[in-house]
Amino acid sequence: MCVGCGLCVYQCPSGALEMGWNEYGFLTPNLAGECNSQGECLTVCPFNPHPEKKISTENEISQNFLTDELNHHPKIGKYKGIYAGYSDDYRLSSSSGGLATYISAELLEQGIVDHVISIKESPNREMHYEYAVSSNKDAVISSSKTRYYPVTLAKMLRDLHPLEGRVAIVGVACFIKAVRLAQYRDPELKKKIPFLIGIICGGLKSKFFTEYLARKAGVIENIQQPQYRIKNLQGSAGDYSFGCLDSQTNSNKTIRMKTVGDMWGTGLFKANACDFCDDVTTELADISLGDAWIKPYHLDGRGTNLIITRSALSDKLIQQGIQQKRLNLEPLTIERLLFSQKGSFNHRHTGLSYRVKLAGKNNCLIPPKRFVREKVSFDFKIVQLLRMKIRRKSLDVWKNYPDALLFDKKMNFSLKLLKGATTFYHYKKAALNKLKIK
Ligand SMILES: Cc1cc2nc3c(=O)[nH]c(=O)nc-3n(C[C@H](O)[C@H](O)[C@H](O)COP(=O)(O)OP(=O)(O)OC[C@H]3O[C@@H](n4cnc5c(N)ncnc54)[C@H](O)[C@@H]3O)c2cc1C
Repeated sequence: MCVGCGLCVYQCPSGALEMGWNEYGFLTPNLAGECNSQGECLTVCPFNPHPEKKISTENEISQNFLTDELNHHPKIGKYKGIYAGYSDDYRLSSSSGGLATYISAELLEQGIVDHVISIKESPNREMHYEYAVSSNKDAVISSSKTRYYPVTLAKMLRDLHPLEGRVAIVGVACFIKAVRLAQYRDPELKKKIPFLIGIICGGLKSKFFTEYLARKAGVIENIQQPQYRIKNLQGSAGDYSFGCLDSQTNSNKTIRMKTVGDMWGTGLFKANACDFCDDVTTELADISLGDAWIKPYHLDGRGTNLIITRSALSDKLIQQGIQQKRLNLEPLTIERLLFSQKGSFNHRHTGLSYRVKLAGKNNCLIPPKRFVREKVSFDFKIVQLLRMKIRRKSLDVWKNYPDALLFDKKMNFSLKLLKGATTFYHYKKAALNKLKIK
């Protein structure tokens, strides 16, 4: 169960671990030398099946780091404020409302940190994107936009100590958790990294996802500069496109994601570990940023963020932005926030207990999880089972048949079955809710 964060490589005392591509298009650690460790690597793994009690889940870890006076909700963790909106300066050059870029730039401009570590284009063309350091506003802007591509923190963290000054790191929930675990073990890292920007994540994709989309767009070889969230400014926020450079014709090829089908609710090309992550809103970051997938925000193709502040400092940055009229935000109720990420909560909280049970039966080691006592109806179990099978099958099929037409053909029946099962589940739920209201 690995997401490729690379913290194990950073923690490895003998330097025997290094990151590399596995056969399914994920970055994972490989043993490349003599292992003389007593399991130190595992202590920073976000999916460690045997963590210390004091840091066993996000609930315990947050007690060590999010220590300001905060509210708490079992589904979203500790929080100070919840908002929806955008940054006037960065919205159009960002994937959503531009808050990740805004906060990164403010941290630098206000001298809260000297560097921001986030994702940029890699000089290695095969990698496409990688973690890199930005030390000024322009560099931060060049790291805007969502990249659904495997990345690792391994090298970046190893290079951190010689880097002068304090840093902020941008990451999805499992990477942020790994950084918190490293900070727990090494308090120096707590001083070195005073701010974490959390990106709300619905699941990490294999590099096969990029290959598939590129082929759907008509680029067969030598994919360059993949762009995952090309906005339709006249359409809705969900109506975005994938695009990449076709180096043979030196032209950009794009495809509307609407025409590709559901890539997120189906589990296609997803990492197995993501099915065992119950942190929907990146609970351990100082600020969590996602998309406001609710009315009226999602009707605006320019993009709108969902924002959860989890420290006095992050909330101050938000309040300053509102006062200076650089942020166009409004408060959001917790119910609206939950509704905005409904699908993710449903899959990762409600469905989790069934997946954990299944994994246990198959003798898989599972880290301690919250939400394992949720009741799962028979029809939702079927949906879970189909999603798990589709996740696995999509990776196997693409590994053997990296051709979009063939892939669609081979996945068609399973996807139809899932669609049927999901429709039944939703109708039944809606009918039961109606009866309850009456
Ligand atoms: C794999 C993945 C899945 C996501 N799933 C959801 C979801 O289910 N629901 C939801 O509401 N939002 C999800 N998001 C977040 C959403 O796509 C936006 O990134 C978020 O709303 C921030 O938008 P922004 O305009 O503020 O960011 P921008 O201003 O465009 O900045 C984006 C920031 O994210 C960093 N970044 C880009 N790719 C990655 C990556 N792979 N890992 C870590 N950091 C990265 C960039 O370097 C930059 O700092 C997901 C993001 C990723 C990477």
